Amino acid sequence: MSLGFLSKGHGRTWRSIDVWLKKLTKGLLGGGAPKAKGESGALKDVGDAIVASVECDRCGERIEVRLRKSSDIPRGTEDDPFEFFVQKTVVGTKCFNRIDLRLEMDARYRLIRCDAKGGRLVSP
Ligand SMILES: [Zn+2]
Repeated sequence: MSLGFLSKGHGRTWRSIDVWLKKLTKGLLGGGAPKAKGESGALKDVGDAIVASVECDRCGERIEVRLRKSSDIPRGTEDDPFEFFVQKTVVGTKCFNRIDLRLEMDARYRLIRCDAKGGRLVSP
């Protein structure tokens, strides 16, 4: 049968395609940075600004922090592993708990690392 002829004559080729496909799928699914992918969802890009949502540790209040790209988000220095960063103290309206928020982002404002003392970053 033609199928038998195909697998016999082109066995090596098919195997290498199979390996290539596996490499490709692996690269697409696992090769990226799954951690960063999840974290970047915590920031919302609204054009001229980035909106971060934080939740207060003390009262659970959800606070939206709007950060203008032009004025609120400075660039890091050449030695920093990130492009932009934000260092901000956030205080909600329900209590006086202070949340020390620090966000580190890449050139496209995707979150690389975040740290929130007194609260936590949540998805918008
Ligand atoms: Zn609070």
